[in-house]
Amino acid sequence: MKRYLEAIRKVVPYVPGDQPNFPDMIKLNTNENPYPPAPEVQEILKMSHADQLRLYPDPTSHELNAAIADFYHVQESQVFTGVGSDDVLAMIFQTFFQSDLPILFPDITYAFYPVWCDLFRIPYEVQPLNDKLEIVPEDYFRENGGIVFPNPNAPTGIAMPMSEIERILQHNPESLVVVDEAYVDFGGESVLPLLDRYENLMVVQTFSKSRAMAGMRIGFAIGHPTLIRALHDVKYSFNSYTLNRTSLSAGVASVKDRPYLEQQTAKIIATREHAKQVLAELGFQFPDSKSNFLFVTHPDCDAHELFLALREAHIFVRWFDSPRIRNYLRISIGTEEQMEALYQFLRQYLKK
Ligand SMILES: *Cc1c(COP(=O)(O)O)cnc(C)c1O
Repeated sequence: MKRYLEAIRKVVPYVPGDQPNFPDMIKLNTNENPYPPAPEVQEILKMSHADQLRLYPDPTSHELNAAIADFYHVQESQVFTGVGSDDVLAMIFQTFFQSDLPILFPDITYAFYPVWCDLFRIPYEVQPLNDKLEIVPEDYFRENGGIVFPNPNAPTGIAMPMSEIERILQHNPESLVVVDEAYVDFGGESVLPLLDRYENLMVVQTFSKSRAMAGMRIGFAIGHPTLIRALHDVKYSFNSYTLNRTSLSAGVASVKDRPYLEQQTAKIIATREHAKQVLAELGFQFPDSKSNFLFVTHPDCDAHELFLALREAHIFVRWFDSPRIRNYLRISIGTEEQMEALYQFLRQYLKK
């Protein structure tokens, strides 16, 4: 084989959820928000000035970072923004997980973590969830090169109380602990209040789920200024202009509308709680979710077959071809109407 072909970097990429596009579809497969973003975001997009696009965006994301800092009652020097939290997390992996020690994360979790480890050549060890699919804090009380997990975890939806995460922090003064709070607005408990006491804590959040802006690509990290500075150094060594002009102004508009965020998440939480009732009545079992999805299994039916039948009906959910969770489906919480259509389908399907 030619030398340049042998020298190609081989990676096994992350597989994102399908993005099917049918006019009649019910899309419950990638945890998107079924509702639109804040009204002011829509206004900004209507007014967008194409003539401004010849100009570079603000590389410091100052206005957006300041708005986020204001919203979460932290300093602007504690905020780092990126092109979705995937971009922010990838920066974190590159910046902080540089020791020879393995980083730790759960066996069942966001499937991107092992992919970044392979890409950036970071050693890692997975810690199995217990039988109830919970993270066991004690598994993280060992020497490591860093720790990362989502809270609530994905795809289980299970939230760990702040006190448990604090125990992990207490046992890891020498490690960076990254808490991926992609779903925290749906009823989890954010560990942001712990930042004052633990300088080794980094909190990551996204505009993709609760703020209904997955298509805009905005994510952020909040942590100690020393850590944030290190992230900026790596970012400016790679690509200074990450967030574009439109994202920056739409992001600010979203952050400024706190009541809208609260209203919309309350609506999704109510739909989720109702979904728990209906699905339990239909015989589904699932861990108690504090996120905008449910991770369900049914004693009498095969998850993959159900996944295919749903897909046939243009109802899209997520099935993971992964050993411990092959008989589970992850169902994102949609509108009440979308969920009704799902229940309708399931009632018929389970009668057969
Ligand atoms: C959705 C998700 C993200 C990434 O979202 P972005 O759209 O890149 O902001 C990160 N972590 C978890 C656990 C997620 O589910």
